[in-house]
Amino acid sequence: MIGASGLRGIVGEDLNPELVAKFSAAFGQFLGNGLVVVGSDTRPSNQMYRYAVFAGLLSSGCEVVDLGICPTPSLQLMVRNLEAKGGIAITGSHNPSEWNALKFVRPDGLFLYPEEIRQVVRITESKIKRVSWDRIGKVRRDDSAIENHLKKILSLVDQQEIQTRHFKVVIDGCNGAGALITPGLLQKLGCEVIEVNCEPHGYFAHPPEPIPSNLRELSQIVKSEGADLGFSHDADADRVGLVTEKGDILPEDYVLLLVAKFVLSKRKGLVVTNLSTTQALDDLAADFDSRVRRTKVGDIYVARCMRKEKAVIGGEGNGGVIVPEVHYARDGIAAVALILNYLSETGSSLSLLARSLPRYYMVKRKVKVTPGRFPPPREYLKEQFRGAKFSFLDGVKIILKEGWIHVRLSGTEPVVRIISEARTREEAESLSRMGMEKVLKVSLEN
Ligand code: MG
Repeated sequence: MIGASGLRGIVGEDLNPELVAKFSAAFGQFLGNGLVVVGSDTRPSNQMYRYAVFAGLLSSGCEVVDLGICPTPSLQLMVRNLEAKGGIAITGSHNPSEWNALKFVRPDGLFLYPEEIRQVVRITESKIKRVSWDRIGKVRRDDSAIENHLKKILSLVDQQEIQTRHFKVVIDGCNGAGALITPGLLQKLGCEVIEVNCEPHGYFAHPPEPIPSNLRELSQIVKSEGADLGFSHDADADRVGLVTEKGDILPEDYVLLLVAKFVLSKRKGLVVTNLSTTQALDDLAADFDSRVRRTKVGDIYVARCMRKEKAVIGGEGNGGVIVPEVHYARDGIAAVALILNYLSETGSSLSLLARSLPRYYMVKRKVKVTPGRFPPPREYLKEQFRGAKFSFLDGVKIILKEGWIHVRLSGTEPVVRIISEARTREEAESLSRMGMEKVLKVSLEN
């Protein structure tokens, strides 16, 4: 429940308001008080947690700025804009309605690092310092987060060029916070906008993860409306999914590939992503004389590395793109603007752009086990996979001529993830089986 990215749980079960208030107070103490920005997605539980967060923060001497319902990336930007000490995003992100979570934001707009979350946890385990009655701060409302975010994104793209194309765009807001920002962005970019599930009430019309199986309604509407493309956000809009003018639902990692290709075509430089993201990104980067740096899985690792290495673009294969000119945060809204700019500049259709990307097949498996010695000893692995290259940064990644296998422990569930990728589905399946047999089974026998 207390994971690498914050506190999460099920409403009415383990994520109770007392716990939320306690963690918020501990976070306030961790920050050394001062101004803290709070926002949430649209989930029906958002008010209950919002007031608990306020109570906790005020009790430890913080001043609170309430952004109301607001995409997580807009909140991250507001933390910096207001020069706040930090922020709390109340969002279950891509998880179903029964989930909710707190994500803690540092003064620089990044999420807390895992070691900082451990410090907050330690404060909750000791006696939290509360302030006396005469030092309790106030909650003030600020409704400028979305406008501020839009302004920043619009400054990145060639607005006039996009406007001349008069794109017809379907936006599936998934009844989440993205419904409050992306339709407005599209209008400003001269698009004819068809809104689907854009009432921000938090009763999600479909599971709020922009993966292909949840984009079927969007695909049908794009086709029946004869639209140029369709976008779908998760509940807090740090991710986006894509549908082409033909109604084809693109794999999630195409978002990062398309945005990276567009950005690299303007400016070569380093691309950063995690170890489980497609090899297609390396092929693409090589075409532009650029390189890819890989981190542990988790957007915070990608964001930190991007900032340190001054990357030009980065993100994860789940539709979460990080655009440094906006901020070091996954931003599904910035991705929308850049993809439209890519389309307008090339005069191409989305399906044509998608077809120009390097093709690979990925197989993802999730096995419910807790392995013993993991990863298995390096000598053993080197013997099993002769001639392979290895990375031990996050579990083990084995890079072979025909593709790669990544076997890692999940940070959020008691499962082992086996991800493999190759040029053909058969090869990817065969690599996945090798991951099971030669890596996972051995760690179970230990
Ligand atoms: Mg999200």
